Amino acid sequence: MANNKGLIIITGPSGVGKGTLVKKLLEENKNIWLSISATTRLPREGEENGIDYFFLNKKEFTDLVAENGFIEWAEFAGNYYGTPRKEVQNQLSRGKIVLLEIELEGARQVRESFAEGFQIFIAPPSFKELEKRIRGRATDSEEAILKRLTRAKYELKAQSEFDATVINNNLDVALLEIKKLIAN
Ligand code: ADP
Ligand code: 5GP
Repeated sequence: MANNKGLIIITGPSGVGKGTLVKKLLEENKNIWLSISATTRLPREGEENGIDYFFLNKKEFTDLVAENGFIEWAEFAGNYYGTPRKEVQNQLSRGKIVLLEIELEGARQVRESFAEGFQIFIAPPSFKELEKRIRGRATDSEEAILKRLTRAKYELKAQSEFDATVINNNLDVALLEIKKLIAN
């Protein structure tokens, strides 16, 4: 439930600024361990295997699913994404704050079958601003952008399932709000 701050889940539509916020949070709080997800998506320019993601092919990914190797996994905009189970359990048992940055279906699965943790939804100040950010990031194809924006409309409706919503309008304000939520 909301009092278990050993596990923090951050969810929100693509382009809202989750990665940017998480990076800053990790720089400031050395007791937080960020889970590195596996994905079948191709690396973006500058992304490295084992640092940004474990980049797997479909067979490698589905083999891991069959071995119960993921706490949760989901298809998002045509690719698979999942949280490897072993290291999360290891870090939790060492007393680290474990942070998962995952999409909506994954957050729901974690709630249902692993641990509720504390779930934070990051929302954009407006849909227009969200689109501007995704396009401004310039990392995805037009097809991928459209899939992500369609998905975003659905994800935004699920905010009330979360323990808290943080609107990422001003980055520093949003970061401060997240830090307060984690500390409480
Ligand atoms: P996500 O991880 O949620 O997909 P990113 O962290 O990649 O999103 O951010 C998407 C884009 O929005 C990036 O170009 C980032 O620099 C920008 N961005 C993030 N937060 C803000 C903010 N508060 N105001 C303006 N731009 C932002
Ligand atoms: P991206 O392709 O932009 O890196 O990520 C797309 C979406 O997948 C984002 O919403 C991100 O939070 C989510 N995601 C990343 N890793 C995982 C994971 O392990 N599981 C789930 N369910 N979603 C993930």
